[in-house]
Amino acid sequence: MGNTGMRAADVRALFISDLHLQPAHPATSAAFYDFLDQHARHAQQLYLLGDLFEYWAGDDDLSDPFHQQVIAALRRVSDAGVSVYWIAGNRDFLVGQQFAAAAGLTLLPEIHVAEIGGQRLALLHGDAQCTEDVKYMEFRAMVRQPGWQQQFTAMPLAQRKAIIAGMRENSRKDQGSKSYEIMDVTPQAISDVYAQTGTDVMIHGHTHRPALHTVDGKRRYVLPDWEPDATPPRGGWIAIDGRGAITRHDLGGHIITA
Ligand code: MN
Repeated sequence: MGNTGMRAADVRALFISDLHLQPAHPATSAAFYDFLDQHARHAQQLYLLGDLFEYWAGDDDLSDPFHQQVIAALRRVSDAGVSVYWIAGNRDFLVGQQFAAAAGLTLLPEIHVAEIGGQRLALLHGDAQCTEDVKYMEFRAMVRQPGWQQQFTAMPLAQRKAIIAGMRENSRKDQGSKSYEIMDVTPQAISDVYAQTGTDVMIHGHTHRPALHTVDGKRRYVLPDWEPDATPPRGGWIAIDGRGAITRHDLGGHIITA
């Protein structure tokens, strides 16, 4: 690996999102497993900030061989003493306590404030801040209701998978393969998060627009999605060290300065 500019022992926490793991994209899974073994295992905390999976039909799908691989890889990290945390994305919000227990991770609410290296960080996926996507916001309000989730997960697994596949097919036809991610966050929704959490640093994903935005002295770090075999390759993570220094890293571990 390249020079990460930071000794492994200094890394307090790593943040990733939007891997959209699925059997059809083995290069992404391979890059994820490399990241876990070479980087995450040496951190104190690992935060998964949503859309680790392309979709999740329910925790009764744990025995799927691909899911077993991902769970085992996360388990190796948590068994190594790393605290692993999960914030749901718009594609894997049906992950529940059974998955969490199997992977050895802790489920967090949709907005979480972490205090790391003397910094207070607002952590979130970012889909709820794309408030101009009215259709999606209505869909989100529906599917995040416990009643809707109980009804949906009461359906046979095969039927749920068929419904999800149909939705993914429709969204491909509508607006390309990642329609939910076309919209960006709105400034108002972002300032609401700062106000609600009393933070001035935020890390989120979802939009697939990796960046550091500094507005009014507040810093907003946006995580990349992962597609290592795209040209150029996409993926990477954010790290915070013991002094609260935050760095963005590409898939090779190199610090992104631009
Ligand atoms: Mn997303």
